[in-house]
Amino acid sequence: MYFIAFHTPCQGVVDVVSGSASPSSPPPIYDAAMDTLDESIDAARSLIDGAQAITVLTGAGISTDSGIPDFRGPNGLWTKDPAAERASNINFYVGDPAVRRANWAQRAKGSLWANVDPNAGHQALVELERREKLHTLITQNVDELHQRAGSSPDRVIEIHGTTRKVACLECDYRDDMETVLDRVRAGEADPPCPNCGGILKSATISFGQSLIAEDLQRAERAAVECDLFLAVGTSLAVFPINETIKVAHQTGSKVIILNGEATVFDPIADVVLHAGISETLPRIVRAVA
Ligand code: ZN
Repeated sequence: MYFIAFHTPCQGVVDVVSGSASPSSPPPIYDAAMDTLDESIDAARSLIDGAQAITVLTGAGISTDSGIPDFRGPNGLWTKDPAAERASNINFYVGDPAVRRANWAQRAKGSLWANVDPNAGHQALVELERREKLHTLITQNVDELHQRAGSSPDRVIEIHGTTRKVACLECDYRDDMETVLDRVRAGEADPPCPNCGGILKSATISFGQSLIAEDLQRAERAAVECDLFLAVGTSLAVFPINETIKVAHQTGSKVIILNGEATVFDPIADVVLHAGISETLPRIVRAVA
């Protein structure tokens, strides 16, 4: 009854140098209604205090304060570099060696996320784990900033993969991105898989690729098993992972949404916070004194 559709071609995910296809987050808002925000923060803290198993879903908004750029804004990666957008489509990537060569060259230059560190939002979610309340952390981001902040890798589901690793499109080969970039810098413009000769690609889910069924099943299970679902920095517009919030709600979990702007799931949430994430998340995960 609660099954999330598997094998659905990914509708809104990206590859290349990127984080997520969500529209760019607005600047933190909420200065006029501080009392209301404070009340909402108190309500969220109470829910977190009372919860025993929290499943978190994060999106691009949590990484914005780390300087991860958006894609389609005026300074977006794709706006400035249409070739990067083509490389994010699996058909172009597989079908055109020139697209792959350009993509590897861009990565090898190291211009991608050179000095990107986790921010207070990522660190706040580590606190949830320290308080032994975190069931699972599902992220739509491909930047590994949750793990870099200190979240346990086995608690994190990277539903759209990671750009810090490379995978073969033909066999099970996986390795660190840097290992393959060293080959590019040494002269291999389009390095093939060392095991089978197949095409290598960053270990993200590109447009046209299916999500990994096992990851979706884990995410669904985490939505069913939690008693509180916390959505952070996501417009909840990307299917099918946005189904997890519905599943959590339908199976009796409380729901908190923290995002810079309204989402279509705000009406089912117990607490909605439209506020800056790196400022607000640390306040709501802190134990009530
Ligand atoms: Zn291979």
